[in-house]
Amino acid sequence: MTPTPRRTTSDDAAARRPQPVRRVDLLGLSADEIAALGALDGAPRFRAAQVFRWLHRQRARSLAAMSNLPLELRSRLDGEVEIAVADVLREERSEDGSTKAVLRLADGRVVESVLIREKSKRTLCVSTQVGCAVGCVFCATGAAGLGRHLTAGEILRQVYDAEERLERESPGERLTNVVLMGMGEPLHNFEATRRALVNLTARAGRGLSPRRLTVSTSGYPERIGGLAREGPHVRLAISLTAATDELRTRLIPLNRRYPIASLVEAGAYYERTTRSRVTFEYVLLQGINDSRDDARRLGRLLRGRRVNLIPLNPHPYSTMKPPADETVELFHRSLKESGVISTVRWSKGRDIQAACGQLAARS
Ligand code: SF4
Repeated sequence: MTPTPRRTTSDDAAARRPQPVRRVDLLGLSADEIAALGALDGAPRFRAAQVFRWLHRQRARSLAAMSNLPLELRSRLDGEVEIAVADVLREERSEDGSTKAVLRLADGRVVESVLIREKSKRTLCVSTQVGCAVGCVFCATGAAGLGRHLTAGEILRQVYDAEERLERESPGERLTNVVLMGMGEPLHNFEATRRALVNLTARAGRGLSPRRLTVSTSGYPERIGGLAREGPHVRLAISLTAATDELRTRLIPLNRRYPIASLVEAGAYYERTTRSRVTFEYVLLQGINDSRDDARRLGRLLRGRRVNLIPLNPHPYSTMKPPADETVELFHRSLKESGVISTVRWSKGRDIQAACGQLAARS
């Protein structure tokens, strides 16, 4: 298949393009912000908490579902806010049990989320943007450029709907982890990402422990610092994929702005400030970054740190290949000898194009 030409979208241009006028995204608001809505003027204080619980505990998709709210209040809210929806266009099931959901948002844009089943863990990988501006050359999402940022509500909707489908199909099971590693760069869409994390961890809502949430980023050190200062203190994964700036700039163009040293320093700052775990990700690409020298350089750079090695998941938008299993093993051993805490991550869902770097959301 002919690879799709990469768009040369500048970093924020597509996201700044005029969007259809939207009402307030109710799912992305905190309980205090809900209390401050014009529609709740004069309403008893507990109404805001009630709305918040409907959204984040009962996973209400409409104001009509909030049956213990006065009709008149629901109608006032209806004029001021909207609740993000996402229709399932189709679901695909991998032979390893993972399920990819292709979702259509209210404006017709399409994103994907993936439910990964591993022993007792049920992890949902969610998208934070339609497409992605970063343009990593090994990633199918980056091939199409950025469509737009998702709202906090659209990020949360993926979680709540997937959780509901899981509970319906497998009674007794519940989502245990959420990773922001689907389509898009979460820290490029910082405000919506942070709002979604805050609401997911809110005790009055879903109450997910921050240790069960992971944000994966390819850069943006100042926003890593922002997340460290503002919280919530979720786990962080930094995608490095090269041990020299020259190579990393070729693979992840964002490296021109944020070189390797700035990311390693941001990771150390995040760990110091939050005491939360930081992992570096390294996508192994055959003949490009998988040599003994690459392993030695990476070992020197990340001695004592955690590294996840991810053999490339091939897709039609790139001709790159994963290394042979023996090369992966040699690389892994060399890192361990250098004092790196190295783990090889074999991605789930490869057969349905649901693995790391394969999400392309073709409807
Ligand atoms: S790997 Fe992540 S940051 Fe890079 S293009 Fe793909 S979605 Fe964007």
